[in-house]
Amino acid sequence: MSPEKLVRPEILALTAYQVPEAQGMVKLDAMENPYPLPPALRRELAEALSRVDLNRYPEPTGRRVRELLARRMNLPPGMELLLGNGSDDLIQIITLAVARPGTTMMYPAPSFVMYGVNAALCGMKAVAVPLREDFSFDADAFLARMRSERPALLFIAYPNNPTGVLYPEEDILRVIGAAEGLVVLDEAYHVFAGRTFMQRLGEHPNLVVLRTLSKLGLAGIRLGYLAGRPQWIEQFNKVRQAYNVNVLTQAAALFMLERLEVLEEQAARIRAERATLGAALAGLPGVTVFPSQANFFLVRVPRAERTYEALKRQGVLVRNLHPGLRDCLRITVGTPDENRILLTALQEAL
Ligand SMILES: *Cc1c(COP(=O)(O)O)cnc(C)c1O
Repeated sequence: MSPEKLVRPEILALTAYQVPEAQGMVKLDAMENPYPLPPALRRELAEALSRVDLNRYPEPTGRRVRELLARRMNLPPGMELLLGNGSDDLIQIITLAVARPGTTMMYPAPSFVMYGVNAALCGMKAVAVPLREDFSFDADAFLARMRSERPALLFIAYPNNPTGVLYPEEDILRVIGAAEGLVVLDEAYHVFAGRTFMQRLGEHPNLVVLRTLSKLGLAGIRLGYLAGRPQWIEQFNKVRQAYNVNVLTQAAALFMLERLEVLEEQAARIRAERATLGAALAGLPGVTVFPSQANFFLVRVPRAERTYEALKRQGVLVRNLHPGLRDCLRITVGTPDENRILLTALQEAL
């Protein structure tokens, strides 16, 4: 009995998410916050976690985390939150809930790979509408495709991954205004862009805002959140696995949300470093840097494959997007030391 005979063809066609070995490397491949927590805070956190009852199931909806998040993230009155095991979990929940047979998901491309993966998993037709050559958003082309495809679900990463580009607010408003389907605005990099549609949720019944604590510095605990009208949250809550956010994640999130200023200060340092690194990368001969409002840069180099391997040999791990994105690498903003190591290595690796 072979799996090929039983497993759905759309699953057979997928490849499992690949993560390269990063032990001992300068790790600039996954948009993580490079700064560890201060030692005193780590001890306090350990103490807080030691009080968690591991023998008990979690509070199913993470009530206390939701209440604290709503305050710290300025959730508008009348809106609700749904928590996920990372925002990946929420992308799957939304897609599962909306995927009526024969319906379509649409998103600008290139963008976050999980949109397309979940369309495939849930049996939706995925329509990836190309961005312009410079990765700016072609609103007219996108709206034209919306009219012909009539998507039930739209994902827009704001700013986009893997390009770092933040689309104009007017373009997003045009998409929301014209959409017959649900628009999910994925604000994974919100802390680095300083722009959000959170406060506009009340104006648009077909909009929900997706966020994560991952890029802010808590990628390891896996906590994403979806903000929207209670009518949407009520439906998505039925699809959520009963205990999708575990007790340790809830406790760690509560602890850190009480001390959010620590992570926000780190994010401010990353934003400052972004400017320095962007200018230095742009100064390297042969390197094209695309403008980024996130904590990473998309760069085009003469020979991405070669440069990626040469960087790796020098102990620097970036993300190789070639051949999907011709001659492109994605580089996370690291600490000043890490960025210096990257720049030195890159000069030899080009
Ligand atoms: C990183 C990322 C996510 C996933 O975040 P998790 O909460 O860690 O699952 C979602 N959307 C975009 C655009 C991202 O870049």
